[in-house]
Amino acid sequence: MTRYIFITGGVISGLGKGIVTASIGRILQAKGFKVTAIKIDPYLNYDAGTLRPTEHGEVWVTEDGGEIDQDLGHYERFMDITLTKDHNITSGKIYFNVISKERRGEYLGQTVQPIPHVTDEIKGWIKRVADKSKVDFLLVEIGGVVGDYENILFLEAARQLNIENPGRVLFVHVAYLPVPRTIGEMKTKPVQHSVKRLREIGIQPDFIIARSEYELDDVRRKKIALYCNVKEEYIISDPDLELVYELPIIFDKEGLGDKILEKFGLSSRPTHLKRWRSFVDALKNSRGIISIAIVGKYFATGKYSLPDAYVSVIEAIRHACAHFKVKPDLHYINAEMFEKDPRLVSSLSMFDGIIVPGGFGSKGVEGKILAIKYARENKIPFLGLCYGFQLSVVEYARNVCGLEGANTTEIDLDTPHPVVDLLPEQKKIIEESRFGGSMRLGGHKVLIKEGTLAYELYEKTVIVERFRHRYEINPEYVPVLEEKGFIFSGESEDGIKQLGELPREAHPYFIGSQFHPEFTSRPLKPNPLFRGLVEAGLKRRRMKRR
Ligand code: GLN
Repeated sequence: MTRYIFITGGVISGLGKGIVTASIGRILQAKGFKVTAIKIDPYLNYDAGTLRPTEHGEVWVTEDGGEIDQDLGHYERFMDITLTKDHNITSGKIYFNVISKERRGEYLGQTVQPIPHVTDEIKGWIKRVADKSKVDFLLVEIGGVVGDYENILFLEAARQLNIENPGRVLFVHVAYLPVPRTIGEMKTKPVQHSVKRLREIGIQPDFIIARSEYELDDVRRKKIALYCNVKEEYIISDPDLELVYELPIIFDKEGLGDKILEKFGLSSRPTHLKRWRSFVDALKNSRGIISIAIVGKYFATGKYSLPDAYVSVIEAIRHACAHFKVKPDLHYINAEMFEKDPRLVSSLSMFDGIIVPGGFGSKGVEGKILAIKYARENKIPFLGLCYGFQLSVVEYARNVCGLEGANTTEIDLDTPHPVVDLLPEQKKIIEESRFGGSMRLGGHKVLIKEGTLAYELYEKTVIVERFRHRYEINPEYVPVLEEKGFIFSGESEDGIKQLGELPREAHPYFIGSQFHPEFTSRPLKPNPLFRGLVEAGLKRRRMKRR
């Protein structure tokens, strides 16, 4: 029977509850258990597809086409599992179901209320996932912070689940301990208050994860134990780490896995984390370095720049680097810089590899095209992801095929050469302004042509990768692009081109994909396209040294 572990947050958001959840999952798996996880996002959007990337970070795409909070990406990466849309619950989804049921007359005669109707809907959803996935442990991360208006009904549902399933529910509270510079001491009061809020709701945490810049000391541990009603050994220190992947190792060192088992009345087991440890060791302690530039646009929010919008791309680079036992030296470059001063593009020569990631709209597009041209002409290993791939085709059309003014119709409807154009099924959707959840989404088959770089990397002729787009390579322009040397090395079953590359005689590594390979990259199984980029980048680095 499935056991439930709820993870709640205290004091501030952005503490890395997702990483904590994923790490707990990883250590339980390393003890031989079957684990899965649900992320609860209390916002009213139905899913994350319509959220602004600079505000909310990247949108994670599941195999079944869900557009979801990036925490699901952490779960999939840390636990190497494939999740579905059902593993993300939003208030939007819950209310949508409740109101639909009410309209269908399913509550006939009743007054429909937050309790029990909304809470029942939440519990029903969680139990459905538990039944379907048949896991030993279902982790449920409740987004936001205890005390928010938004998540109160989710906490209430968790409280009820605990009462209805005695001995099968645990609560882990992740709370922040500030160290104010003027005081110079780690303060526990905010944690005490957030646990108090939790207990007012009727939830007594079993574990407290003490998130702070520094390690928790004994004095503070005792204090939290006393005020929060949690035994000292169930208070786990979680200091800032150089690498998020270290957290399962830290948790294991603190014996968190066995303590969880003990709380559930299960006997302790050894943790098998050997390969994970060598992965972390490769990223932390390798001497070799590779420098990679991500030329994008979603970096700035107000005064702060946040590479969060590209988190999966960054993680995929890390996985590939660990494979070759080198450390990544990542540079985030705002493409608009090249638009303001095109001469700056030559600064890209200092990098071992260049990535132009996915994106939407016209901002930074010409800058990205300049970067792609530079990578192509100067033989710098290049990987184009989705928009990056489409723009590499635009660049080739303009500068090699001589199709002046070639463009994607996403930004220029009147272009004389629409080399990238709306997918036929998307035309109607756009006309009707049905933007939510209407892109071509999720896992689709790609057929790879033998004898190409793509085939060399994937070593197979059929792959499944994840997509999120509205536009495609216009089939009318494929012949002229091919005639001028561009190779389309992969296509979908309906013949639309999904992978493009330059011949190896022309360029050491130039490849782009309509799909997002970053979504299938895993710590111990890097995605082939990223692996290829790092390998080619390391060759370039060695040659530059000589
Ligand atoms: N804007 C492009 C499209 O919709 C690319 C999308 C992306 O990069 N995810 O096709």
